[in-house]
Amino acid sequence: MIAGDGDKGSDTGRHFLKQWIAEDVAAGRTGGTVVTRFPPEPNGYIHIGHAKAICIDFGMAREFGGRCNLRMDDTNPSKESDEYAESIKKDIRWLGFDWGEGFYSAANLFEQMYEIAERLIEGGHAYVCELTQEQWKEYRGAPTSPGRESPFRNRSAAESLDLFRRMRAGEFADGTLCLRAKIDMASPNIHFRDPVLYRIMRVPHYHTGDKWCIYPMYDFAHPIEDAFEGVTHSMCTLEFEVHRPLYDWVVDRMDEMGLLVVRNGVKIRPQQREFARLNLSYTVMSKRKLLQLVEERRVSGWDDPRMPTVCGLRRRGYTPEAIRDFCERIGVSKYESQTDVALLEYCLRDDLNRRALRRMAVLDPIKVVIDNWPADKVENVAALNNPEDPDAGTRLVPFGRELFIEREDFMEVPSKKFFRVTPGQEVRLRAACLFTCTHVVKDAEGRAVEVHGTYDPDSKGGNAADGRKIKGTIHWVSAAHAVPLEVRLYDRLFTVPDPMGDDTKDFLEFLNEDSLRKITAHAEPALAEAATGQIFQFERVGYFCADTVDSRPGAPVFNRTVTLKDSWAKVGNKQ
Ligand code: ATP
Ligand code: MG
Repeated sequence: MIAGDGDKGSDTGRHFLKQWIAEDVAAGRTGGTVVTRFPPEPNGYIHIGHAKAICIDFGMAREFGGRCNLRMDDTNPSKESDEYAESIKKDIRWLGFDWGEGFYSAANLFEQMYEIAERLIEGGHAYVCELTQEQWKEYRGAPTSPGRESPFRNRSAAESLDLFRRMRAGEFADGTLCLRAKIDMASPNIHFRDPVLYRIMRVPHYHTGDKWCIYPMYDFAHPIEDAFEGVTHSMCTLEFEVHRPLYDWVVDRMDEMGLLVVRNGVKIRPQQREFARLNLSYTVMSKRKLLQLVEERRVSGWDDPRMPTVCGLRRRGYTPEAIRDFCERIGVSKYESQTDVALLEYCLRDDLNRRALRRMAVLDPIKVVIDNWPADKVENVAALNNPEDPDAGTRLVPFGRELFIEREDFMEVPSKKFFRVTPGQEVRLRAACLFTCTHVVKDAEGRAVEVHGTYDPDSKGGNAADGRKIKGTIHWVSAAHAVPLEVRLYDRLFTVPDPMGDDTKDFLEFLNEDSLRKITAHAEPALAEAATGQIFQFERVGYFCADTVDSRPGAPVFNRTVTLKDSWAKVGNKQ
């Protein structure tokens, strides 16, 4: 499969997760309600990869008329915080999903998890082990060779129970004792070799504070959370596939203890399935690496518009619709691949083209003087707000004798097929009139500083009275009315498609030093008062969003959301 072309061409209607759920619904295994969950660990801001998982988890629940819980998977307190938890809620709502009453936190189940652990010990399914971390690793063996049993494996349940209670009471140092499941040290699956269920860790938890000094491991906690919440379908990324037997083992034990939820007479046995994570070109997706970028101030924060985080994309000007469309197009599969970021940009352009209001701004100006236009005459010309949307109406834009146009729209000696401003060639000044360059004024170094020409008085609105065809249309801003606009031009954060792909190099070596360039553009007056977060198409230039952090009425700051040039339509779609 070509990364990014998703399953669109094949069978988006029924990917394997949908089939799986549909079968369970048909077989009556859900007790009448499909329940899924999105289980972020509140140890960072969520990114576009999480958005994929969110679209799958909430999307499947929606598709089958069920519900999706939001659960903070907060079993590792060292890096978790309320700031992160709150940001996750905000971002999921912004993406357009709602967990209703279904907000949960792993920490709320710590007491129940502890009780289950005690019952496992009593039932001979778990024991307290005193091997050091190094010994534990050595005893565990390698995937190709069996592990060895811990000398503590066959101690009595009573002894383990006593030690486990004392672990909880804080009698032992961090990292000394741990609770392990008693499963199978010879299993080919390394996660089945008496995995650790609890470890000692004196780290205050952002919700339970100092109450606990032992914390459950993810592999133990996750199936318990799913089971208590009555989750029917637990979807996660491929790296958890090898953990699935352990997940099932914990669910089996809960079943034996009579702890599974019964819904409409059906015992709910949560099941896990895995899909490929999203990898996106020219960025990194690991929360740890993103945190590093933030902490080392390589970016301005989690919401830096270059970040692949949901808050960064939002600040950049991405819309929830574009992100959901992207997640739909990449589809769901079992194969790891890298998706071209150009597809994400394509989805954004597709959405913004329909919705964004048009404005004119000149990023790199050269002055134009219309010699046959009276010096003090100003005319307000009506320009379409959005040619794609008849309801968007028009606005008035001041037009005068002196204008700014883009420097690249002028060539004294034109190349082939250059239909823009060059001596003797007529062009359309968008919405205003037709203009023909006559000559150019240069500075001492020979650089063009002023383009002179004349306009056709019979070309109101930019159309010739005799209907003659004009090939080039350019945008412009009246020099006397132009407002300065701080514009932040973003490029990819990394210089290579896979910054993590070279084992011999640190990903920071691939950081793009030129990923942010600030310029002052000249814009039509309407842009000065743009509301923060508002997104416009600067005609012929790209999409720009008034920055939610730094923009002020009268002192606007715009982020370039995406250029108009569409590399995906040209390259990607052909593949
Ligand atoms: P960590 O390294 O902290 O575990 P994580 O990215 O796995 O980071 P979680 O908060 O555990 O973060 O992820 C929540 C859910 O999002 C998980 O179910 C995980 O499978 C899913 N997820 C994470 N990254 C991606 C990705 N790149 N593509 C799709 N799903 C992802
Ligand atoms: Mg994780």
